[in-house]
Amino acid sequence: MEKNDGPANRRRIPVDEAIVALLAQVEPVSDHERVIVLDAMGRTLVEDIPAPADVPPFDYATLDGYAVRASDTDGAAPDQPVSFEVVGVLAAGVVASRALGKGEAYRILTGAPVPPGGDAVVPFEGTDGKGFGGWDGSDAMSLGLAEKRVAVRVQVQTGADVRRRAEDQRAGEVLLRSGTRVRPAEVAVLASAGIFSVWVHRRIRIGVLSTGDELVARDHVGPLGPGKIRDANGPALLALVSRDGAIPVDLGQALDEPDSVRASLLKGVDQGCDLIVTSGGVSMGDRDMVKHVIRDDGEVSIWSIDLRPGKPFTFGRFHGVPIMALPGNPVSAMVTYELLVNPVVRRMQGDRAAVPVEVMAIADQEILNDSGRENFVRGVARIDDRVRGSVEWHVRPTGPQGSGILTSMARANCLIRLSPDTKRVESGGRVRLRLMDASPLW
Ligand code: AMP
Ligand code: MG
Repeated sequence: MEKNDGPANRRRIPVDEAIVALLAQVEPVSDHERVIVLDAMGRTLVEDIPAPADVPPFDYATLDGYAVRASDTDGAAPDQPVSFEVVGVLAAGVVASRALGKGEAYRILTGAPVPPGGDAVVPFEGTDGKGFGGWDGSDAMSLGLAEKRVAVRVQVQTGADVRRRAEDQRAGEVLLRSGTRVRPAEVAVLASAGIFSVWVHRRIRIGVLSTGDELVARDHVGPLGPGKIRDANGPALLALVSRDGAIPVDLGQALDEPDSVRASLLKGVDQGCDLIVTSGGVSMGDRDMVKHVIRDDGEVSIWSIDLRPGKPFTFGRFHGVPIMALPGNPVSAMVTYELLVNPVVRRMQGDRAAVPVEVMAIADQEILNDSGRENFVRGVARIDDRVRGSVEWHVRPTGPQGSGILTSMARANCLIRLSPDTKRVESGGRVRLRLMDASPLW
């Protein structure tokens, strides 16, 4: 069995290059399905969505007041009120029975359509109108109707306090583009447009396999046997797959034997996995079988990435199914998932924006990189608003960065990205950050 990766001085691929190379290896899945809008959360649209109609469908009042013709308020001032005849009351959902004439006003409440002929709303506070200060439970509406005239004390412009028809969505215009990932905001836009179902890429099925003779069964209760440890990577990777909106397929655990690894991977192929993610058994040791099995049954195309934590990594195909073999160290497994697997999952599910956002931050303490590789340091990032007017990100490492220190992942909300030739960042220096979860950590 071949163990060599090729020439020892083979160039390690920079992370960004590796991501580009990985994205070139996979395609969005071609099957689509029509789902109701709520089920589209986290999925990617495969169609441009045109607005079926104008939203809002009519001009309406944005506050309580009087609908008027703006030109009729010309010259109105606190000491020079202009008197209007009140011709009716319009509440939300009520349409005027007639057009507004010169010198006429409708009492109007927020959300009610502006009557034809009217083009502005005078806020109640700009008039001597009565009964608007909150409904007192009495006969407020008839009180309004009893009001025959109102004095307007402010001059308003055309369109004042009127929300315009179609200001949000214009019939026929593209509302959402194909390739957009649906978030709660997209759900709201679709709902406001009266769209009940959309075409999206189907979710991909991702097989997750842990490897290692030292792993006890996931449901093992009681003391661990000598030399045995619990399987953190299986659950971690299954959780990451779920977070990314794909369907996790639990392939369990394999021993460090070629036949065991092969049988587990074949299970993944049989179960229709679109992608398989493994952890462990991918370095150069005597018992590291995963890469050999992939090579024997398929091909290995990308490995040796200039990355810490997580150098041992392999992308290939196993019986035609894309496979990503991640290192066994739990931190390395999670970090390589975030950096390398997540973009692939997004692309396979049709997301146009496969690569996540990074921000610049100020290091609150010295950060060292003695790895000679691109180093992703677990960090805690926050916006510092103690300094008046400052909205800068600040960051500090979580502490010791050993790739076995899994609790540091739970303490981190970002990865601080240090290039191979950055040996040291001083306190106060600037660093690139990749936010994993921007909520504050305490
Ligand atoms: P490997 O990449 O297989 O050489 O594993 C590297 C380290 O990660 C070893 O200390 C393993 O025991 C550990 N490890 C491998 N797989 C897992 C797992 N699923 N959960 C927790 N630790 C693991
Ligand atoms: Mg192992």
